[in-house]
Amino acid sequence: KLRDPDQPEFHQAAEEVLSSLWPFLEANPKYLKSGIIERLVEPERVILFRVPWVDDKGQVHVNRGYRVQMSSAIGPYKGGLRFHPSVNLGVLKFLAFEQVFKNALTTLPMGGGKGGSDFDPKGKSDAEVMRFCQSFMTELSRHIGADLDVPAGDIGVGGREIGYMYGQYKRLRNEFTSVLTGKGMTYGGSLIRPEATGYGCVYFAEEMLKERGDSFNGKRVTISGSGNVAQYAAQKVMELGGLVISVSDSGGTLYFPQGMSEQQWHQLMELKNEKRGRLQEMTGDNAEFQAGKTPWHLACDIALPCATQNELNEQDAKTLVANGCFCVAEGANMPSTLEAVDVFIEKRILFAPGKAANAGGVAVSGLEMSQNAMRMLWTAGEVDEKLHSIMQSIHAACERYGKEEDGFINYVKGANIAGFVKVADAMLAQGIV
Ligand code: NDP
Repeated sequence: KLRDPDQPEFHQAAEEVLSSLWPFLEANPKYLKSGIIERLVEPERVILFRVPWVDDKGQVHVNRGYRVQMSSAIGPYKGGLRFHPSVNLGVLKFLAFEQVFKNALTTLPMGGGKGGSDFDPKGKSDAEVMRFCQSFMTELSRHIGADLDVPAGDIGVGGREIGYMYGQYKRLRNEFTSVLTGKGMTYGGSLIRPEATGYGCVYFAEEMLKERGDSFNGKRVTISGSGNVAQYAAQKVMELGGLVISVSDSGGTLYFPQGMSEQQWHQLMELKNEKRGRLQEMTGDNAEFQAGKTPWHLACDIALPCATQNELNEQDAKTLVANGCFCVAEGANMPSTLEAVDVFIEKRILFAPGKAANAGGVAVSGLEMSQNAMRMLWTAGEVDEKLHSIMQSIHAACERYGKEEDGFINYVKGANIAGFVKVADAMLAQGIV
């Protein structure tokens, strides 16, 4: 905190991991030697750069670009790029730190990184977004590579942005390699990558429910966000017989008293991915827009926060539990504050942290890299099956390290220890580097 006083999100993520790891570290003192912890909280490298671009009126803008290369202990740096006005170094360090443990949990050989810019794609024309992406990649291309660092999408970076950045990378480097994931299907993408984070989150929650002999069937599910993760989480919940009673965006919550219909899901996909519109435009029968509200006041059985960090606070957690919610799986990264997580764990409800529940996205990104390396394309069924089994193995790892004497599974502890052990063992083997 003394070194980086202005990085509260990073401190929060580090505190969450280190405090839940502490009893394990004391019981296994080899991990307290060799400066493992001190090295884990310091990025291997941070790249910070100017991104100048020209808007449609000829006006010059300057944004700031970043890539945090956190850990390459178990593989090349891997993690998304975020374009959002709230992006700063502290936010990206928190995301990169989380990514290290998450990637270790996937069972695939990927290190951790994260990057992005404070650029806001909202309200920009396609041409403006393209010019920005080209300028961003012009600098970033010097620091990434298929065996070095492989970025992907995140908030504000979807198929359109990945396409523009990939085109620019190829032009600059004169090579067609797997340097980005989340690519389009015509140029090296993987089937099921767009669906992977949302589906994976629901597969993980399904495993938690199975522990109690339960399922999604007939459950009321609140979802926040309405972007990539929320969209496919909603689709999978409906497929498993659950009722999606909300989605949200930064304008408010769209409440579906009778559960979202399949037709409304298609409407949502068109609104968000093609028209790039706002949720309030979807108001109608069985769709009530609640301006300025988050979904946590709605009575539900299961909550899937899929928007952004710190979107669910202590009071929200208490309200959810009081209204009957007994399972929370984080599709977003760190959507619950530390105090909210404490409420879920104290009340002994099923709670899956993002690094376990949303690891499906990066897992399928890893599978995209494998397919590119083999010059092959697996079918949707094959990728989905691999995703499903990766989520089940993450669940098993959490259970192994997180099961307490009374049978309660502390998924926060389980995920942190399982991810840590793999990375720390690799660091011990590689010496002080
Ligand atoms: P998108 O940009 O597709 O969607 C983000 C959604 O969250 C939008 O509905 C957006 O609303 C809402 N949102 C973003 N910031 C805020 C805010 N400050 N307040 C309220 N609502 C907000 O992003 P993704 O769906 O890809 O990512 C969502 C979360 O999932 C992030 O935490 C991301 O790090 C995490 N994640 C994503 C993965 C992926 O594969 N995409 C993988 C693993 C984790 P609006 O449009 O109004 O801003």
